[in-house]
Amino acid sequence: MAIHIVEEANRCLNCKRPSCQLKGCPVHTPIPEVIKLFKERRIEEAGKLLFDNNPMSLICSHVCNHSEQCEGNCVLGRKGNSVHFSSIEAYISDTYLDRVEFEKPEPNGKRVAIIGAGPAGLTVAIICARAGCGVTIFEQRPEIGGVLEYGIPDFRLPKQTVRRFRKVLKDLGVRVRPSTTIGGALLIDDLFLDGYDSVFVGAGAWRAKTLGITGQARGNVYFGIDYLVDPRSCEIGRKVAVIGVGNVAMDVARTALRSGAREVTLYSNWGGISASSDEVELAELDGAQIEYGLSIDQINDIGPLFRRSKLGEDGAFVGITDERIQVACDTVIICVSQVPKNKLTLTTRGLATTEGGTLIVSESGETTVSGVFAAGDVVTGPMTVVHAVAGAKTAAAGMLRYMGVAD
Ligand SMILES: Cc1cc2nc3c(=O)[nH]c(=O)nc-3n(C[C@H](O)[C@H](O)[C@H](O)COP(=O)(O)OP(=O)(O)OC[C@H]3O[C@@H](n4cnc5c(N)ncnc54)[C@H](O)[C@@H]3O)c2cc1C
Repeated sequence: MAIHIVEEANRCLNCKRPSCQLKGCPVHTPIPEVIKLFKERRIEEAGKLLFDNNPMSLICSHVCNHSEQCEGNCVLGRKGNSVHFSSIEAYISDTYLDRVEFEKPEPNGKRVAIIGAGPAGLTVAIICARAGCGVTIFEQRPEIGGVLEYGIPDFRLPKQTVRRFRKVLKDLGVRVRPSTTIGGALLIDDLFLDGYDSVFVGAGAWRAKTLGITGQARGNVYFGIDYLVDPRSCEIGRKVAVIGVGNVAMDVARTALRSGAREVTLYSNWGGISASSDEVELAELDGAQIEYGLSIDQINDIGPLFRRSKLGEDGAFVGITDERIQVACDTVIICVSQVPKNKLTLTTRGLATTEGGTLIVSESGETTVSGVFAAGDVVTGPMTVVHAVAGAKTAAAGMLRYMGVAD
């Protein structure tokens, strides 16, 4: 890899107006500057630049949709191959996290509570801790990482990579309280009563959308995000039907094929696929099949019963026909998106949501409750790691201003 990334870095044109950075990257990673430092063998400076701009840089180097973001906007890609920045970023960020020793900053007397240890919560924790705040993260699961730990399969993002952030948090003096759900025994009000000056909600979107059909409560039916939390605990058999064709569905199919399933078919109710083309290619490479134009009607003893969809010329879904197609399988896994759970809104007076259940925030990331900020999937609905980081940076800046420790 080392020789390859040096060659890649040497191909960078160091554009005056770098589209990779300005157009392609939601957190505007200073790509040409990072590559310049890398070429000068100033790896730690390059790593610091990446981390200061995006504490999740190492994660993003693995899981961002590079072909549509930084690499998809590289000018060299117009006529040939883009600079493979993700590999360069992975090398630099990996090395940086190995070598860096964060020091506990001078305390500023303010305390911050963070709900959720996903990429949004981790980003706010790191920014606020580096600004001198005392930070505690409340995480309902045993491990930090959110979707990085409990959603994205290990073969795409090794758990060890995510767990490296434990040390970062420890070095910065961030306390993590695992297995603690806010909105359960403890409420947001309790956090303020205990003297936290500001609260960040980074609870993600963990409530599976349902299909409104019969059969979803059968013992051989799962929702994709629940299945991915611990695939080994689910008996899926050899033939699996996946309802949905987004990125989560692709991860589910690929995981099922690594967990004993021999025949995995994904069903789209229209003529296309919503997952990114890279994910589709990998799922097909792993052996997943895709069927188009089938709308689920019910799940019965045999498996899913579909009705054939009516499709427009462009493949868009326009309705359903009377034609029924029964599929036999061992397990059905439903992956038709997620929304935030409502634990926090039900237990916090004044915490307003959109009709879709996402939290309403101001430009600075503040919710409708004073001092409570939010970002990530709980605000945007299911998006991506780098979008969660972008929102978290805005919210962290808003929190520091709210507490009077930044202008
Ligand atoms: C299967 C899957 C694959 C994906 N693949 C990619 C990918 O390849 N690339 C990419 O960029 N994006 C991907 N995404 C999307 C990306 O992971 C999310 O957009 C991102 O993780 C959102 O970050 P977040 O911090 O807002 O939420 P999350 O990562 O969901 O973290 C929220 C955290 O809050 C905790 N929590 C929730 N409620 C409470 C509560 N009441 N009290 C305490 N803790 C609570 C949860 O346990 C969780 O740890 C994927 C998503 C899924 C589901």
